[in-house]
Amino acid sequence: MTVDLDWENLGFSYHKLPFRYISYFKNGQWDEGQLTEDATLHISESSPALHYGQQAFEGLKAYRTKTNEIQLFRPDKNAQRLQKTAERLLMPKVSTEKFIDAVKKVVKANADFVPPYGTGATLYLRPLLIGVGDVIGVKPATEYIFTVFAMPVGNYFKGGLAPTNFIVSEDYDRAAPYGTGAAKVGGNYAGSLLPGQTAHSEGYSDVIYLDPATHTKIEEVGSANFFGISKDNEFVTPLSPSILPSITKYSLLQLAEERLGLKPVEGDVPVEQLDRFVEAGACGTAAIISPIGGIQYKGKRHVFYSETEVGPVTKRLYNELVGIQFGDVEAPEGWIVKVD
Ligand SMILES: *Cc1c(COP(=O)(O)O)cnc(C)c1O
Repeated sequence: MTVDLDWENLGFSYHKLPFRYISYFKNGQWDEGQLTEDATLHISESSPALHYGQQAFEGLKAYRTKTNEIQLFRPDKNAQRLQKTAERLLMPKVSTEKFIDAVKKVVKANADFVPPYGTGATLYLRPLLIGVGDVIGVKPATEYIFTVFAMPVGNYFKGGLAPTNFIVSEDYDRAAPYGTGAAKVGGNYAGSLLPGQTAHSEGYSDVIYLDPATHTKIEEVGSANFFGISKDNEFVTPLSPSILPSITKYSLLQLAEERLGLKPVEGDVPVEQLDRFVEAGACGTAAIISPIGGIQYKGKRHVFYSETEVGPVTKRLYNELVGIQFGDVEAPEGWIVKVD
């Protein structure tokens, strides 16, 4: 059973669902955690999450299959990444078991809002870990909230997979060389709003960030990772301590090798050597795979496959990944977790 929503035209926007999960960390331990209908957080005005950015988030989706089952894609990897982020920001870890339990509870409680199979829409889940409590000095919180809420989101590509153009940010970095670029924290995003808005106003999908140390190598594509398909059938993606390790990207590296016979390569991607690629794309849970038509850099546009058509390798990767996520294509061992 699903509720009656315009599934085809959902977009990516907040939608208040009946239930979310919340758990409190006090006196050195997490409580049991429970579902609540209260969509408002009640926290101290002095919460370190508000003042010093001691907060982390995650993003994953629940998919409805052809046989009407609901499933998650590699949620253990989101749990592990949240643990790494927590380590970097001196926050208490949420165990993988607690994380997956919370996600499943939220999906089940809001199951009517998991979009029907075939619409391309999914239930997007947003786990959030924040430092709260009465602390005003620059030090870690003593109390924390772990919450998971959800909303149905639409197919990213309404008219089918289509390339868009991106522009290299020459004025701003997303993260410092050994800062928090590899941690999924809101602080990385606050600084990206301005360059992102400028790019959008100039007609680009988003900004491409170069490595903050030398500004010669591609690192991130807005809030997604970069990949290129080389003339020699390599799937190439940047490696750097300031990139957010995308679960989608690591899944594609594996699928590229095992299912498409490409050579997986993590290494430098000099922005002056884009000629080596015949196709390029951005990948992430929200973006899935977004084909990159062209990249604008120093007043010139480098076009990969085409500005209007998606390349054949990108398309095969997309079909493989999305097929696995919706249960139409056999998944590698352990990638799919059923809810129920
Ligand atoms: C979340 C995120 C990604 C994508 O990661 P996935 O695990 O694939 O969703 C890429 N870049 C940034 C900056 C992110 O925050």
